[in-house]
Amino acid sequence: MEKPARVFISHTHADHISDLVPFLWAIQIDGRQKPLALYGPPGFKKTLSRLLQCTSTSDDFFKFPLTVSDLDFGEAQDNVRTCRTSHTIPTMAFRIEANGKSFCYTADTIYCPAVIELARNTDLLIHEATFLEDQLSIAELTRHSTPRMAGKAAKEASAKRLALFHIPPPNDRREKEFYSDAKLEFGDEVTVGEDMVMFDL
Ligand SMILES: [Zn+2]
Ligand SMILES: [Zn+2]
Repeated sequence: MEKPARVFISHTHADHISDLVPFLWAIQIDGRQKPLALYGPPGFKKTLSRLLQCTSTSDDFFKFPLTVSDLDFGEAQDNVRTCRTSHTIPTMAFRIEANGKSFCYTADTIYCPAVIELARNTDLLIHEATFLEDQLSIAELTRHSTPRMAGKAAKEASAKRLALFHIPPPNDRREKEFYSDAKLEFGDEVTVGEDMVMFDL
C-alpha cells in the first residue's frame, strides 16, 4: 500500500484540534483515496473519537484508509521525533528531519528545557509566542511563551532561524514587539509565521 501522508497533532486544545474534523470531511468530500495517518499525544485517539461522535460522523464515513495513533512522549515516528512540552495539558513538540535538514515545532509551551534539547542545532525553530513581557503572569498561568522565552530557547538550542507563531488577538496589533523582544535574545534571524508561509531550509 502507498505510504500514508501524515498529520501530527500536538494537543487537544480547541485552537489546535477544532479544524481537524472539518478538514477530514473536506478531503473525503473531495474524493480522497490516498491513505492518511494521524498522530497525536497520549489521549489523542480518544478525543478524536469523541469529536467524531459529537459531529455525527459515523465510523464508515471516511472511505480512504485512515489510521489514528497515540504516540508516547519521546517516541519517534520514522523521521519525526517528539518530546513533552511544558503546557497545561499533555502536549507534544515535533522535530522533523529530511534530506539533512530539520525543523522543530514546539507546539504550545512555556520555556522548556526538553524542547530546547529536541531543537538542538535545528535549521528552523518554530516556537510559540503568545504573550509579551508585561503579560508574564498570564503567560505563566496558561503555560505559554513570550517572544523573549522563544528567543532564549532558540539561542540555547543553537537553532539557525526562529519563526514565532501563536500570536493571538489583540496581541497581533503588537507584532513589532514580538520581533524586537525575540531579537533581543536571538539576533536577527527571526520571523513571524503566517498561514501557508513556506520556508526554504
Ligand atoms: Zn494549548
Ligand atoms: Zn494554542
